[in-house]
Amino acid sequence: MSKFKDQLGPGFDDETGPPEFDMQDGLALALAYLEDPSNVPCPHCGPNTIEVVAFLDASSMERGAAVPTKPEGDYTVVLYCHSCGRAAALDLSRDDGTEDRNAA
Ligand SMILES: [Zn+2]
Repeated sequence: MSKFKDQLGPGFDDETGPPEFDMQDGLALALAYLEDPSNVPCPHCGPNTIEVVAFLDASSMERGAAVPTKPEGDYTVVLYCHSCGRAAALDLSRDDGTEDRNAA
């Protein structure tokens, strides 16, 4: 039997592959990002290791599609630590105080 799977990479398996940020790490990353997007320290490695990889459309993410977008309105920011290899996708679309953007 062929065990071929069309996966994005080894990091998407629950049991093997590199470690991932947990909920607490994600929260720390989100807070740091909101405070200063250009200076987000890794909870495990410290400052100057995190890169903002992409901004993805939040509503598309909910449908399982990764659609690049601008960091405006509802978006998910993808962060990657070059030191420990962890990646995080932070959904920042539930920020309150920005509801006046939807005036149609
Ligand atoms: Zn790290």
